Order: sequence, then structure tokens, then C-alpha cells
Amino acid sequence: MSITTSTEGITNEGNNLALIASHSHITGLGLDDNLQPRENSQGMVGQLKARKALGIILRMVEEGKIAGRAILIAGPPSTGKTALAMGLSQNLGKDVPFTAITASEIFSKEISKTEALTQSFRKSIGIRIKEETEVIEGEVIEIQIDRSLTGGHKQGKITIRTTDMETIYELGNKMIDELSKEKIIAGDIISIDKSNGKIIKLGRSFSRARDYDAMGSDTKFISCPEGELQVRKEVLHTVSLHEIDVINSRQQGFLALFSGDTGEIRSEVRDQINLKVGEWKEEGKADIIPGVLFIDEVHMLDIECFSFINRLLEDEFSPIVIMATNRGISKTRGTNYKSPHGLPLDLLDRSIIIQTENYQEDEIESILKIRCNEEEVEINNDAIKLLTKIGVETSLRYASNLISVSYLMSKKRRSNEIEIEDIKRAYLLFLDSSRSVSYLQENESNYID
Ligand code: ATP
Repeated sequence: MSITTSTEGITNEGNNLALIASHSHITGLGLDDNLQPRENSQGMVGQLKARKALGIILRMVEEGKIAGRAILIAGPPSTGKTALAMGLSQNLGKDVPFTAITASEIFSKEISKTEALTQSFRKSIGIRIKEETEVIEGEVIEIQIDRSLTGGHKQGKITIRTTDMETIYELGNKMIDELSKEKIIAGDIISIDKSNGKIIKLGRSFSRARDYDAMGSDTKFISCPEGELQVRKEVLHTVSLHEIDVINSRQQGFLALFSGDTGEIRSEVRDQINLKVGEWKEEGKADIIPGVLFIDEVHMLDIECFSFINRLLEDEFSPIVIMATNRGISKTRGTNYKSPHGLPLDLLDRSIIIQTENYQEDEIESILKIRCNEEEVEINNDAIKLLTKIGVETSLRYASNLISVSYLMSKKRRSNEIEIEDIKRAYLLFLDSSRSVSYLQENESNYID
């Protein structure tokens, strides 16, 4: 069977993060270079221990060390479990797949729950495929000088702004000379002065070697046997294992990815694809990038799903699975047993647990200010204090939801700033869960049982 990976024009199906507006202010975990959490950074406030723990997970994912493990983020409602997972996804390189699902989705598809889980797992495994193509004139390329060409003591990757192939060759040869004399260093952006044939430094393309690695290299000069220069362009593209599955299993091929109607994929197809990908890896044609599968509200899964996840985690192609729950000791669905977080003990036993904690008042205030900023809403000091108090007494999510309602109230009175009155009116108009419960208890007789 010949396996195709051509997914031109496909958007990252299954990755609906951009749509999750309530987390739109989160742009990362807010960590410094040593992976320590900053108090307020990248939209993230507080929850320092959990962010520190996720920083370590981030490093392990980057180093490809943590595939096949499960992490459980557990904590009370509105303590940022989903926000933390979003932050992690933003910090992962663009090539690292991140799939977010809510456990109940598994039951709502027209495919079996084990198939839905398998697809989610395989969406979270990236296959980076290497291909060689021609260099087009006028492209900005990066070139790599082989150590053997510079007398062995220096190696460089340097960006050239080029207009034609001749210049590339000329520059390449000059670079070898200059690198041997250590005049230019890796990361320099250079060009050639046609009037005197000298190399001109235009700037730096990156500040540290790590940044360079993150950029990845596109084009390389490599040494050919006679020690001359050759241009070769290596194009890398990343597709998920699931995309390869779909393209090779359906007659309509990649079109199924657009509709999301991928149906059940036969296990023989997956076995063959696993085999092929394994071969590509052996031959150096592809790298396997274990990504992250985030399962929110994981307590909604049932015992069959949990045991299937246990199996999938042992698969040779397994992502890192991050689960989130706000349940304490509760029944595992499909059983009569209670267990911590509603998860069966064998899955709990193989999970690393990260705890989130309730926020302090000042943290709630900071988060609400960030949300106002994100929603481009002006709010005065008294109003934010009252909103914070509501957040402390009800929930962060409820207080956050009041922002847009109060803003509409302020607009109604032709103001562009939320004032204390707007918050009060919004609070009276929309109940939080505990007021709703007391209302129901008081008016029970008016409702149908
Ligand atoms: P639940 O258990 O109810 O699903 P959760 O723990 O997943 O809740 P989130 O949905 O992540 O909570 O948080 C509620 C809101 O507060 C979201 O808008 C989220 O982006 C924001 N938020 C929570 N924690 C933080 C934080 N530490 N920094 C910034 N924003 C946060």
C-alpha cells in the first residue's frame, strides 16, 4: 500500500482553540527562561505551583520524553484548569499538535466511543516529513556550512537575502573563508557588495542558538565529495497521524477532513500506516512528534473509555494526555464504585496529578481586569472592586460573565465606562448558581418535577 500524506490546504481540524473566547487572553503559561512562573504574564495570574509543574511538563514534551503519560489537573470549578491547558498549548512549538476535547464529545459522535478516542489520540501525534525541493530565485534562504569546509573549527547557519543563484554560490564560498577567519558568526544576515565583492552584515536573524533551532532550517549548502558547494532545499511539513489515516482510508481522501465525517477507520489501515511511519523514521525521512491531547471534564467518560485509554497510552504512538476535572470523590460512570475524581484507580495510579487552588481576592481582581482589557471595556475602580467581591462570593466565571452585560448597561446610559450601578443592575438581572438554587427551593411548587 502506498501511503500519501498530501494535505495541502487543510486547516488543523480538531484544534478549535481560537474559538474558545473565554480563554482568548491566555497567550502562554507566563514562565520565564528558567520555566519559573511570573506573577502576571501572558494573561496568566497566580496558580503558581500548577504553572511551575506544567513548565516541567512543557520541557519534557519539547524533549519528546513524556509520550504515553497521563496528567490530571484537578481542582475546584473556575480555578483555571482549562486556562492552564490552553497556556501550555500556546507555549508548544507550532509543529507540536495539541487537541482539545470535552469528554462528552466522545459520546455524541456517530462513531463508537473507542474509535472517537483513537481518532483524538492520533490527531495528537505529529509526523514531520522531510522533502527536498528546488530553490527559487529571490527566496530568503538559510545556508549551512559544513564543518569540513571551514577547516573543521567553525560551523555556521547564516541567512542570506539573495536575488539570484550566482550570488548564493558566491556568498557561500565567501562565507567559508570568512567563517574560517571567524569574522561572521552563525545567525548573521549577510549580503554581498557587488561593487567590491565584500560581505556586508545586515543584522542578526536570531539572538540565541535556541531561537535558531525553533526557527528550523530550510535550505542548506552541503559539501559534495569534491568539497564544493551544493544547494539543497529541505522542506518540512507536519501532518497528524489521524490526517494520514483519513487520507488513506476514504475514497474522498482529504475532503473528509473538512467535513469532519471521517467514519470508522479500519484497524488494518492504521496498522499499515504505523508500519510505514516506522520505516520513514528508520530511513530518516520523518520524525514523530508526540503532542498533547487535552480531555476536559474527564469524569464524564465511562469505565470502558477509561480502560481503553489505559490501553492507548501503551501504544507505540501515544501523545501525552492531560485530563481535567473538578470532581472530588465521585462515582466512576458505568460502575457503582466511587473513586477520587471519578477516575478508576489504575488510571489514577499512572497519572501525575497537578492541583489547582481557589484564587485570592487580588488574583480574582487581576484576572477580571485582564478580561475587561481583552473585551476592550472600560471599568472604573469602584466597579472593579464590586465585581471582584462578586467573584469572591460567587465564582470567577460568573463575575467574568457580568463584564459584557454590565458594559451593555453602561452603553444604555450613554457611557463608555462601567460604573458600580451597571454591575449592580447586571447582578440583579442575572442570577448566579447559588441564588438560582435558592430561588428554585422557594418556588418549587411552580415547576414540574
Ligand atoms: P471548570 O472546572 O468549571 O471547568 P476551570 O478550572 O477549567 O473550570 P477555567 O475555565 O480555566 O476554569 O477558568 C474560568 C475563567 O477564568 C476563564 O475565562 C479563564 O481563562 C480564566 N482564568 C482562570 N484562571 C486564570 C488564571 N490563572 N489567569 C488568567 N485567567 C484565568
